[in-house]
Amino acid sequence: MGPPGVGKGTQSRRMAKRYVVPIIATGDMFRRIREEATPPELAQEVREYMDKGEYVPDDLTIKLALDRLSQPDARGGFVLDGFPRTVRQAEALDEAFESHGRCVGHVILLRAPLDVVLKRLTGRWLCSRCARVFNESSNPPMMPGTCDTCGGELYRRSDETPEVQHHRLTVYERQTAPVIAYYESSNRLDSVDAERSVDEVTTELVAILNDDKVE
Ligand code: AMP
Repeated sequence: MGPPGVGKGTQSRRMAKRYVVPIIATGDMFRRIREEATPPELAQEVREYMDKGEYVPDDLTIKLALDRLSQPDARGGFVLDGFPRTVRQAEALDEAFESHGRCVGHVILLRAPLDVVLKRLTGRWLCSRCARVFNESSNPPMMPGTCDTCGGELYRRSDETPEVQHHRLTVYERQTAPVIAYYESSNRLDSVDAERSVDEVTTELVAILNDDKVE
C-alpha cells in the first residue's frame, strides 16, 4: 500500500520476480479493460472514474480482484498492488479468504512525503509491454521512449495530469487511510520508509518477508 507514485509498482515487480508469484494490480486490470474496450459499457464506466482520479466502485473492483485471485497461478501466493484501497475492499478480501482457509499474510505500507511522491509522479513513463516504470530525472531509459528491459514502447498515463494527480492523492488520503488503520489494528501492517533508493527499499521488503517465513 501507499500513495500514487510512492513506488508500489516498481517494488511489486521486484517481489513478484523474487518470490515467483503473480502481481495482481487492479490499476493494470482496469487499464487493460479500457484499452481493449471490452465490454464497451464497462470500459466506458472505468474510463470515467480513472480519468477523474476517482476510485472505481467497490462492487466492480472487488469482483474483478477476487476473480483474479481465484485463478490457479495465485494459489501459491501473489503480490497485490493497488488493492484493497477501501475498507469495504479489505473486508471483502478477508471474508473471501477466510472461507477458503487462506489469509492476507502481510500488508506493507510504503511511506514518503507528499513532495517526494509528486516529484516521482511527474515525469513518469511506463512500459506498455512489461510495465516497468521509468522517471525522466531519477531513472531515465537508455533510449527515450523505449524500455531497457524488453524494448517495449513507453507511455505516459492519461490520469497523470497535475490536476488529476492532486485529486488522486486527496482520494488516497480520504479513502485509504482507514484501510491502513484496519490492518494496523489486526497487527498485519509493516511500514517502510520509501524515500530511500529503490534498492534499499527492496532490501527492507525482503527482510520483512523472509522474517515472516521463519516465524
Ligand atoms: P493505479 O494504477 O493503482 O494507480 O490505479 C489507477 C486507477 O485505477 C485508480 O486511480 C482508480 O481509478 C482505479 N483503481 C485501481 N485500483 C483500484 C481499487 N482497488 N479501487 C478502486 N479503484 C481502483
